Amino acid sequence: MSVTEEILQKELERYKMLADIVRMLDEDKSFTVISEEILNKVCLVLNFSGASLKQKDQKGEKWKILCHTGNAEKIFGDTENLEFPKESCLITDKDAYLPLKVNGQVTMYIAFYDAKEALDRNSSFLEDIRCILQSALNKRITQNSLAGSYTSLEAIIENVGCGIYVYDSMTQKCLYTNQYFRHHFRDKDKAQELENLLKSGCGHTEFYVNENNRWFDVFHSSISWVDGRKVTLYTIYEVTDKKNYQQKIERQVNNDFLTGLYNRMRCEQDLGHFIQQTKEFGGQGALLYMDLDDFKHINDGLGHQYGDALLRSISHSLQRITGIENTCYRMGGDEFIIIVPYSQYTMLKTILDDICSIFSKPWFLKGADYYCTMSMGIARFPEDGDTGDELIKKADIALYEAKKTGKNRIEYYNDAVESISFKRLDLGKKMRDAARDASREFEVYFQPIMGVDGVCQGAEALVRWKLDGMGFVSPSEFIPLAEYLGLINPIGEFVLMEACKRLKRWNDMGHPNYQLNVNLSVVQLLQNDIVKKVEKVIREVRICPENLVLEVTESLAVNDMARMKQILAQIKDLGVQVAMDDFGTGYSSLNHIREMPLDIIKIDRCFIQDIGKDEFSESFVKMVAELAATIGVKVCVEGVEEREQFEVLSRMKIQQVQGYFYDEPMSASQFEKKYI
Ligand code: C2E
Ligand code: CA
Ligand code: CA
Repeated sequence: MSVTEEILQKELERYKMLADIVRMLDEDKSFTVISEEILNKVCLVLNFSGASLKQKDQKGEKWKILCHTGNAEKIFGDTENLEFPKESCLITDKDAYLPLKVNGQVTMYIAFYDAKEALDRNSSFLEDIRCILQSALNKRITQNSLAGSYTSLEAIIENVGCGIYVYDSMTQKCLYTNQYFRHHFRDKDKAQELENLLKSGCGHTEFYVNENNRWFDVFHSSISWVDGRKVTLYTIYEVTDKKNYQQKIERQVNNDFLTGLYNRMRCEQDLGHFIQQTKEFGGQGALLYMDLDDFKHINDGLGHQYGDALLRSISHSLQRITGIENTCYRMGGDEFIIIVPYSQYTMLKTILDDICSIFSKPWFLKGADYYCTMSMGIARFPEDGDTGDELIKKADIALYEAKKTGKNRIEYYNDAVESISFKRLDLGKKMRDAARDASREFEVYFQPIMGVDGVCQGAEALVRWKLDGMGFVSPSEFIPLAEYLGLINPIGEFVLMEACKRLKRWNDMGHPNYQLNVNLSVVQLLQNDIVKKVEKVIREVRICPENLVLEVTESLAVNDMARMKQILAQIKDLGVQVAMDDFGTGYSSLNHIREMPLDIIKIDRCFIQDIGKDEFSESFVKMVAELAATIGVKVCVEGVEEREQFEVLSRMKIQQVQGYFYDEPMSASQFEKKYI
């Protein structure tokens, strides 16, 4: 082989080696392993006796060996103070040092020792090797630092304060969840539920976790995953505090502060919604307008805190009735609305029964049992109206009708009710004005009460309302209205005072035994201070209390017998007599007469109308008269219009008669002309 040939051969070997080295770089081996292989090859091709790769320790003080090959004599030799030119190789006559940089500093070098041939021809080749190794090193460093940043990113994502969930919709697989997600959705079912929600692909959603009462907001966005495919990234934030606050605000807007029921505003909203539903799906619904009877007395008599407690208890009971748990509203004061939506309409009867049963039991307030009844008006939709306003108005009209016809009852709306009621609405306004100065518009009339011997024994005071342009309005028309509007007390007090003044006058004018009957409405009687008020009038007018007869109706006795008896007993203690009015109608029960502290029973006019024609009426009156006689109570028969009636009655054990047969109610002056 010629020298040239030999040189070319060598050159060829070197380049083959370089090609091998370059190929090696692509292999997935560590930098040290690659370096070791390179050292081996170079030593072989360039005839070095040994080689080593050294790296400065972390402090940058000492060199340590990463790998080595061949003759080790020099390997551990002292190269501590080796100074490298910045970029290139350092070549002595037998050794070659190839510096390698990390982050701009020479922190590694490769040393080849004891070349068996001159190195000067190989210097550019050695430099090529250095460059290759340096770039291999650079590549590894970049890879390493990238891997490092991935790890730190992952650590950040893993520990971030929100849930992260990466989902590939193509493969339908979850690719990643972070610790927060795994922790908060540990429960399999919950996680599944949330996953289903996420997979359904809806936009921004809320998610509620029942067990611990937490709310989450879920957002999603599309990102490229590490391998380039498109995936969905869900971020899940806890918003429990925000949600709680929001709900609190909503509650304040929608709920009644005192009872926790929904308020009027919410009622109007919901009502619109329910009406809409019946329009869309057919069916019926009902609006129940409820008003407590005589709630004012509890409020005034016991104090507001007891009134409030009662309202709260009632609200609480209402809300526990099946079918209306979420449709009870307090409209203000003692008024409630209950909506029975179309889905529950078939249960209307049961619901009404359940509501009534709330009021059949007493409430324990301020150490005693109190009864409270309610009246209710019902409007049905869509037949009675298809707007909230209209329905509320109609239910209110029906409610008024229920109040008027004796309270403690339920009335359905019908058009006939409405035509009467509109007249009444107008009356209501007039009555408010009139009650301010009762003596101007109200006048007390007197109807004589006669003994069976035809001698006048006194009179019943019957109020009249003289309305400008309308003449007299009948008391059976306006008394219920006055009760409903809360105006019965001033009117009743006016009547009592007027009547007592007349009584005093007539007793003083030669009729010391004349009695005067005054009607007391239920509402008046249940007033807390009614006994004091009566006593005050007796004292002020200086009448003889035995000559005053207070007429009460039976209907009120049902609600709270115990309380009734107690009040009547106190009234009797004043010396005043008590008469049971309209006996035989409404809630009459013979048991009551035995229990009540009564002096007189007034048998209702309806039993007298048919007397002489109808056997039952006659025997009823007869029986009551007998019974009354045995318990020492007097009987007054009302509405006697004809002589035949009077004659039948005069054969019974009856003490008093009242009716057109003798006289109609008349003004005080007329009465005085005729009977004084
Ligand atoms: P009431 O207490 O049963 O009074 C008797 C009613 O029957 C009176 O009607 C009287 O005019 C009427 N009447 C009397 N005799 C006859 C008769 O022979 N035939 C017929 N058809 N009717 C007769 P009025 O004055 O219209 O009073 C109606 C109701 O209004 C009273 O019924 C009473 O419940 C109530 N009322 C009247 N004045 C007052 C009052 O000052 N306070 C209260 N709370 N209620 C009153
Ligand atoms: Ca009466
Ligand atoms: Ca009567």
